[in-house]
Amino acid sequence: MINPHPGLPELEYVKPATLVEASQFLAEHNGTAKPFSGGTDCFVRLRDGVLKVDYLVDIKGLDGTKELSFDPKKGLTIGAAVPMNKVATNKDVIAHYPNLAMAANSVASYQLRNRATIVGNICNASPAGDTIGTCMALDGVLNVHGTDGFRQIPLNSFFLGPGRTVLKPGDVVISITLPVPPAGMVGVYKKLGRNTIGDLSIVGVAVLGYPNSKSPSGYTFRIALASVAPVPFEALKAEALLSEKKITEETIAQAADIAMESVTPIDDVRGSARYRKLMVRNLTREAITEVWNQLSK
Ligand SMILES: Cc1cc2nc3c(=O)[nH]c(=O)nc-3n(C[C@H](O)[C@H](O)[C@H](O)COP(=O)(O)OP(=O)(O)OC[C@H]3O[C@@H](n4cnc5c(N)ncnc54)[C@H](O)[C@@H]3O)c2cc1C
Repeated sequence: MINPHPGLPELEYVKPATLVEASQFLAEHNGTAKPFSGGTDCFVRLRDGVLKVDYLVDIKGLDGTKELSFDPKKGLTIGAAVPMNKVATNKDVIAHYPNLAMAANSVASYQLRNRATIVGNICNASPAGDTIGTCMALDGVLNVHGTDGFRQIPLNSFFLGPGRTVLKPGDVVISITLPVPPAGMVGVYKKLGRNTIGDLSIVGVAVLGYPNSKSPSGYTFRIALASVAPVPFEALKAEALLSEKKITEETIAQAADIAMESVTPIDDVRGSARYRKLMVRNLTREAITEVWNQLSK
């Protein structure tokens, strides 16, 4: 019988000592080398023959990749080598970004989260990445080192399509920075999977809201959707409605309908496009209502 999973192919493990060395190596071996952190995406793809490379470049020892720090002015910085369990249990994350802890905790299992990282989840650029929407709604910015040195990339301009990003040959994402959240922010992440743990999302909905005296409604909401388009994205029209109209049950239902209309899902083993669309409406309504109930207490 043919073994569908013959094991890992032979490849070279590379551990650069500096960011410059890492970027140079990755640029020189463009197409045959990949950076990795937790490896929970890379190794599965290598085993399945979907990813074919000669070199895996371990970024975990590089400057800034182990940072997990909160600065009351700058916000939260999460290094590319920080496992999700560390993020989800960090006291500053729980205090200031509880929605991020919620999103991180929705990924796979505890065991997997001991390896998997937020930056890996983002760089993998899966439409189903569970932490991406929350990081987008929180205005995350990636700190990147490339062959030309350091630069920053806002998360909302990072994705080009499934598995495709604006990263260039030689680029290593060092960390993600999430600005200080707006005063009074409340956020949730709703994930629909085929089972409660260990599965990718059929639909993922990240919603956050906060009081904003400049909005006609008195509030700003951010809504980001996963698994329902080629890349995770923000439902801008639904957000605009919630900023313009008085927040009522009817407005929330209208915003959820608009969010549903903004998605372009596919049929796959986890759910049909039609099911996904309807679930976007239901989960978005649920998520906005939960956020609103807390905001209006
Ligand atoms: C059993 C199982 C269950 C899973 N369940 C979920 C789930 O529920 N939700 C979910 O969202 N995901 C899930 N995943 C996918 C995966 O665990 C996550 O995407 C994880 O966050 C990836 O992080 P990592 O550090 O392991 O990434 P890696 O495998 O190390 O890397 C992933 C990708 O990012 C690139 N990359 C990594 N680090 C960098 C860097 N610093 N700079 C540039 N590029 C980089 C790599 O080249 C690769 O393309 C699951 C995976 C498995 C195996």
